[in-house]
Amino acid sequence: MKKCFGRDWVQGKNIIVLGLAKSGLAVAKLLVSLGAKVTLNDKKAEHDEEVIDELKALGVHVIVGGHPQGLIHAGIDMIVKNPGIPYTAEPIVEGLKLSIPIITEVELGYQFTDAPIIGITGSNGKTTTTTLVGEILQAAERHPIVAGNIGTVFCEKANNARPDEILVAELSSFQLKGTIEFRPDVACLLNVFPAHLDYHQTMEDYITSKGKLFANMGEKDIAVLNADNAACVQLAQTIHAQKVWFSVEQPVECGAYVQETDVVYTQADGHKEKIIAVNEIGIPGTHNLENALAAISICKSQDVPNSVIREVLSQFKGVEHRLEFVDELSGVKFYNDSKATNAQATTKALASFGDPIILIAGGLDRGVDFLELVPLLKEKVKGLVAYGQTKEKFMHIAKLAGLKSIDSVDNVREAVVRATEMADLGDVVLLSPACASWDMYASFEERGSIFKESVHKLKTSPH
Ligand code: ADP
Repeated sequence: MKKCFGRDWVQGKNIIVLGLAKSGLAVAKLLVSLGAKVTLNDKKAEHDEEVIDELKALGVHVIVGGHPQGLIHAGIDMIVKNPGIPYTAEPIVEGLKLSIPIITEVELGYQFTDAPIIGITGSNGKTTTTTLVGEILQAAERHPIVAGNIGTVFCEKANNARPDEILVAELSSFQLKGTIEFRPDVACLLNVFPAHLDYHQTMEDYITSKGKLFANMGEKDIAVLNADNAACVQLAQTIHAQKVWFSVEQPVECGAYVQETDVVYTQADGHKEKIIAVNEIGIPGTHNLENALAAISICKSQDVPNSVIREVLSQFKGVEHRLEFVDELSGVKFYNDSKATNAQATTKALASFGDPIILIAGGLDRGVDFLELVPLLKEKVKGLVAYGQTKEKFMHIAKLAGLKSIDSVDNVREAVVRATEMADLGDVVLLSPACASWDMYASFEERGSIFKESVHKLKTSPH
């Protein structure tokens, strides 16, 4: 199918790049290299001078410190926005009024590549599944390039990809909302839970953004979907691609599912085979089993041999900050799940353990009440240490759950010390904050690293 905004189209066009983050920088450089006239605009005034100088030297018109009047006008051919910029931002509103195509760099990546694309999205589990698929395809010598929300700019990777390579893209709903023609060969929706409602405003808008992953797919393409997630099942009715399912709860007609103690895969023609025993999979928890099933369904669509899938699944130990085992001190195991930035992720983490848990939780207040955590707090959690903007809310739900040990502290370092005091032999201390980190820490990575450092410090200097 002919692409409308390909490399030839870009030449000589007036393009505004909104937002000078890592992706904005890559997009601006790529577009000037393809002959576009690029203006890069960022509301923020402070930026790395070297970066600005580099862009200027390449011929990019750089405007920082606000959105000037007249920036968006009828002569602009396209706006490439940073995924995080809301659609209520002034230049986007102006662009919409003038019917200027407004995209994210994911669309550009699609326009500029001939390599096949596997796109993976969902509220939770994207990075784990994307990494797993990348590792399986790597082991099968299928030349994967892992990119997107996971940390490398998709359009840059896509522009350089050879047709015999496979782009494995982690995609957020923010990125997908800004796509027009984007059409992956294989697309996977892991799950949809209420999340990011501060950005999307409504659940419907959020589901619609996720659905954009499948919007342009045809019968030759493959949609991998979670048969246990209501939103996936609902969305499936609108998808034209071949459907491959995965499920931890029920057999599926075509796809990967759990049968007693094994993971099996049924082909479209009904042929069924065992892939791996559930207890051979290296990553803990039912949620990770779901991620493994999704990865199996995706990799089977690429004809990866079962032996390779089995080998990688049994070796894979998960991704940093996602239910990552940190250490064991005096019979207490410490797990870092700093990436759990919503209640659903924390629910999954709590459900993964059989041992009593001391939970460390709290962070940015996005206006949710966390009441859904109460049943699992009752069932699995022995003590709670809260910190951050939401600490009162966590203290409240811990009281509702009838926990005996509840405390609040000022930061993650103090939380580790307090949680260790609460823990007995055989317990688990789990950082699974259920909140974003930005009230106190630059990122979930920083928060998780501080947790790990604090645990290691306890080991070297027990108090
Ligand atoms: P994402 O990239 O979508 O944020 P990650 O793989 O980084 O997902 O995992 C983020 C958090 O979500 C982890 O802390 C984990 O506890 C939880 N999680 C992972 N996979 C799933 C899943 N399939 N369903 C629900 N929660 C999950």
